[in-house]
Amino acid sequence: MSSEHDQLISVAEAQRIVLDHVAVAPIMPMDLVQALGLTLAEDVACDVDMPPFDKAMMDGFAARSADTDQGGATLKVIDHIAAGSSSKKTVGAGEAARINTGAPIPEGADAVVRVEDTTWTDDGGSVKIQLPIPKGTNVCDRAEYLKSGEPVLAKGTRLGPAQIAVAAAAGAANVNIYRRPVFAVLATGNELVDVGKRPTGAQIRNSNTPMLAALLSDDGVNVVSLGIAMDDMASLTKSIEYGLECDGLCITGGVSMGAFDFVPDVLAQCGVQVHFHKMSSKPGKPTLFGTTEKGTCVFGLPGNPVSAMVGYWMLMRPAIAAMQGRAGELPQAIEADLIGSQKAAGDRDSYWPACIDPDQSGRLTARALSWRGSGDPFGMGKANGWIVRPAGSPAASDGDKVQVVMLERI
Ligand code: AMP
Ligand code: MG
Repeated sequence: MSSEHDQLISVAEAQRIVLDHVAVAPIMPMDLVQALGLTLAEDVACDVDMPPFDKAMMDGFAARSADTDQGGATLKVIDHIAAGSSSKKTVGAGEAARINTGAPIPEGADAVVRVEDTTWTDDGGSVKIQLPIPKGTNVCDRAEYLKSGEPVLAKGTRLGPAQIAVAAAAGAANVNIYRRPVFAVLATGNELVDVGKRPTGAQIRNSNTPMLAALLSDDGVNVVSLGIAMDDMASLTKSIEYGLECDGLCITGGVSMGAFDFVPDVLAQCGVQVHFHKMSSKPGKPTLFGTTEKGTCVFGLPGNPVSAMVGYWMLMRPAIAAMQGRAGELPQAIEADLIGSQKAAGDRDSYWPACIDPDQSGRLTARALSWRGSGDPFGMGKANGWIVRPAGSPAASDGDKVQVVMLERI
């Protein structure tokens, strides 16, 4: 590997390089219900007026406002309109129609009085309204939300549950989305055993594959787990060659400078062009990114779980967003008041697992979690964000403003 790629680059520079090399996934049609977490490759417009008719907002009686001007009225009930049915009758002077929420307002009526504001007996055939009902009361006009043909979701929108509801209301049973990327995940290390096994001797459990599979699935990616490769050229080559068939390959461990860190050599032999091999973050320094000629992205993350998490969050997540047509979606730092203290940052950006919560007065606070370094995944289990201290930041104490990055989708 050339010395150029061994240079320590900033996280921002690493993000720029990754985004320069990521291609947007092909567009394909998808059943709306299957599209959760995917990104629209087209604008979606509503194909009907919403609501499609003047609609009752309450259970009650549709009446003519003018009839109630004098402070109420007793009106003859001429019909009962349930949601899903329309009345063939016209409400004339002195008349009302019983109506349920969601039903179309009958001809002649211009307001709905709530059933709570009436006296009514089922057999009586008339209703007594106890107050004046201004025109339009409890009526949602046709097209009040929007007109047929109006756009409701823009290309590039990630479809969460609310957006799926909007698309469904707009009649988009099928949507064009960017194809779900496929990523292979490979853990490397002679010391690793599967989660289902009890480690003995010098072994530890492979927690990175489940973590990365979870992160990737949450970001709308299909995951191919390649299991654990041993720290030898043959084992790594076999798995890496297989993984390079996917849109992306994520390897953990074996990317540093140790005697058994063969990943960079194997990648070079497999035709991967490495664009950088060190990132100025703590943890997460031995982080590698490369691409193949056919466009597969390769991320080599450090073996330590928290370092791998930093690499995923800062590089892989933005890369996946870009593949999904949402380029430029980078983790945004916001400010919070520190609870406790933080050491000076040193010469790399530092990331510390933290609880980021509003206090009783609504002030956003960041409390660093007890954490024993990048090999300790347990502090991370309670975190909902990082305290991010840019390189060169001085020590910080209680109440100081610090930058934080949220780990949850907001
Ligand atoms: P490496 O990056 O291969 O030098 O590994 C750094 C540290 O991370 C070592 O202590 C490894 O045992 C640990 N490690 C590597 N891979 C994993 C994994 N898949 N799950 C948990 N820890 C790991
Ligand atoms: Mg290793």
